[in-house]
Amino acid sequence: MSRFWSAKVNELTPYVPGEQPKVSNLIKLNTNENPYGPSPKVLEALKAEAADTLRLYPDPNAEQLKQALADYYNVSPRHVFVGNGSDEVLAHTFQGLLKQDKPLIFPDISYSFYPVYCGLYDIKYTNQLLTESFEIDLSQYPTENGGIIFPNPNAPTGRVLPLSEIESLLKRNTETVVVIDEAYIDFGGESAISLVENYPNLLVVQTLSKSRSLAGLRVGFAIGHPALIDGLERVKNSFNSYPLDRFAISGAVAAIKDQPYFEQTCNAIIESRNALVEQLKGLNFDVLPSATNFVFARHATHDAGELAVKLREKSIIVRHFKQERIQHYLRITIGTNEECQALVDAIKDIL
Ligand code: PMP
Repeated sequence: MSRFWSAKVNELTPYVPGEQPKVSNLIKLNTNENPYGPSPKVLEALKAEAADTLRLYPDPNAEQLKQALADYYNVSPRHVFVGNGSDEVLAHTFQGLLKQDKPLIFPDISYSFYPVYCGLYDIKYTNQLLTESFEIDLSQYPTENGGIIFPNPNAPTGRVLPLSEIESLLKRNTETVVVIDEAYIDFGGESAISLVENYPNLLVVQTLSKSRSLAGLRVGFAIGHPALIDGLERVKNSFNSYPLDRFAISGAVAAIKDQPYFEQTCNAIIESRNALVEQLKGLNFDVLPSATNFVFARHATHDAGELAVKLREKSIIVRHFKQERIQHYLRITIGTNEECQALVDAIKDIL
């Protein structure tokens, strides 16, 4: 606390990310990173960048990356915004929602950064409850709102909504922005990017941190109508001229262009996930259906917090949230097959 800062800054409740331990002998299944490294082509691109261009500023508009994303998603570069991780893209998006009369709506159990941005930018919000089975029920979302945002698939539950339900929402909710945070979409959902041409209020946000294994490089993007994208560009250009450095731009382009590696690693994660779900069920866990690179699981008798502590003692880190309604669950990132097996063996020891 400093008396030299405003009361607002002194009262902020910042987001607390999952633990990033320094020791490397831990099996880290707590922050939904990809267990496989990025495409080898990314490393080649980073080496080439390091060799001769670091004295120069990066392209402030990251045109090369926008073009690569536009080609990949079959839109124009004017539909694409890029930022320093999807957290930054989301921060700019929330800033674009300042001074709405009506509250922004998002699910009660969802990405816990959303209320933090609302606190930072003084945005009013209300939470829409998930159903008993932890599903987002968009039919309950009132059209009187200052915008709607939700992850699809949702985090930390892992449950996914079909595109048809998203389109029904967009047909009803035409007056305010609908933001879909698709951080985990490549592990089993259908992206709403195909709808941006038809719905000028739809903004789809994605990241290269998960399915492209580039969490350390910090690259996220949004795809939407050029008028929505233009607003994000104004916010960005009033904040940071060079959000993406040269490594981020070239590494991201190389990752997007390596389709075979992307498919191979996503498929491997999906297979490991499906196998882990079966093993956990066999150990008396109730596991929510997951379309992500993590599972959300609750043991029939063992306390989730205690399980997390005991796993940690065995050098395996998983995520436990103390929030009401989900305090009995563990969120477990899908690792390699060996890591998943080590997790299952450790759980068997503990039970
Ligand atoms: N959205 C959701 C739902 C997430 O879980 C995360 C990862 N914590 C992010 C966005 C942010 O990812 P990044 O900033 O690494 O792109």
